[in-house]
Amino acid sequence: MKKKIDWTTTLFLIVSHTIGIVGTGIYVYFNGIHPLEIVNFILFYILTGLSITAGYHRYFSHRSYDCHPFLCLFYAIFGACAWENSILRWCSDHRMHHKHVDTDLDPYNIKKGGWYAHIGWIFHKRENLNLNNVKDLQMDPIIRWQHKYYVPIAILVGSGLPFLIGLLVDRPWGGLLWGGFFRVMFVHHATFFINSLAHMVGAQPYTTQDSSRDSWWLAFLTYGEGYHNFHHKFQADYRNGIRWYHWDPSKWVIALCSKFKLTTRLNRTPSRIIQNARLSNPQPNIGCELVRL
Ligand SMILES: [Zn+2]
Ligand SMILES: [Zn+2]
Repeated sequence: MKKKIDWTTTLFLIVSHTIGIVGTGIYVYFNGIHPLEIVNFILFYILTGLSITAGYHRYFSHRSYDCHPFLCLFYAIFGACAWENSILRWCSDHRMHHKHVDTDLDPYNIKKGGWYAHIGWIFHKRENLNLNNVKDLQMDPIIRWQHKYYVPIAILVGSGLPFLIGLLVDRPWGGLLWGGFFRVMFVHHATFFINSLAHMVGAQPYTTQDSSRDSWWLAFLTYGEGYHNFHHKFQADYRNGIRWYHWDPSKWVIALCSKFKLTTRLNRTPSRIIQNARLSNPQPNIGCELVRL
């Protein structure tokens, strides 16, 4: 049966990409670039992207550490501004991905192709959606509040704040374009790469039971989520890159927050268990990752 198109999401993606590329291009052509617009872009790229990886992914979906309500609220607000749906919806999809990886029940099943896993799956209406696998999250009033007001939060903070920052230098539309539309596009594709490229290219040092892969260069584009083979094997670990030199800003932020008691109970898989996984991996496709524990 042919799947129906989800027109709301499809139009949102078309409009956000068009304004992000064409709108920003036209604005720059006529008005040039103010340094504050670059700051606006970087600031919101970091705040919203990390709220997805350290917040939506490693905290809400996997509970790989505990979080102070203040940080939880921060993740809820800036995660919404990434326009990747509410915490409940995102985590439900992500838990389905881990539980049913590489099967028809995996929302972004890589077996349906790189394009489908990257963005194609979002265009389709999904049947029988429920939130049964995130009942634990539904107990949290911050998460329930964010689910209810996801769109107003995303508009007010994700677009309103960059607009106000732009207003400081009399360039509000530049602020909105750089910190809003153009930035959203980059954050979107950083997340989408984890669903596509992180299941297509790279090494499989820890498990060959699924399609997940590790690659250091993808970690640079995805706030540290490129070590995806490790993550699929050890989902409860707050780290994705386990070596100190592995580029994993999400891990560093979580560890830094622990110094201020904003995060606690950071879960680390014992290195003995990690080593065992590597040694018992029957077909270790080490690829470019020749690092040994
Ligand atoms: Zn995950
Ligand atoms: Zn995955």
